[in-house]
Amino acid sequence: MAYDVEKPDEQWRAELNPAEYAVLRQAGTEPAFTGEYTDTKTKGVYSCRACGAELFTSTEKFESHCGWPSFYDPKDSAAVELIEDRSHGMVRTEVRCARCGSHLGHVFEGEGYATPTDQRYCINSVSLKLEPTE
Ligand SMILES: [Zn+2]
Repeated sequence: MAYDVEKPDEQWRAELNPAEYAVLRQAGTEPAFTGEYTDTKTKGVYSCRACGAELFTSTEKFESHCGWPSFYDPKDSAAVELIEDRSHGMVRTEVRCARCGSHLGHVFEGEGYATPTDQRYCINSVSLKLEPTE
């Protein structure tokens, strides 16, 4: 599909640092419990580190203890794109930024977390940039 923000690969490589590029553009995963936002409770809006689109807010962030920032809902359902991912011998749902197509993480359902949606958007810290509101 075509995204509003599309750039040649060399440009992404130049604009992002190696860790950001590996996750956002190559669908990598940062190691668990290493991301800068895993336990962050600061109020604010999490934007896409590749294009700046607003994706998640602190209101939907919850403590999943899974090692990555977890949200039970995106800021706006149109802000993210969900794609079936059959890599690594699993069937998962990949979460991408709907504006630039960059990889954010995966969404899991039915895990029994006491959240309004029973969904866990498991998102790499390196894909996000927090803009604090306080
Ligand atoms: Zn983006």
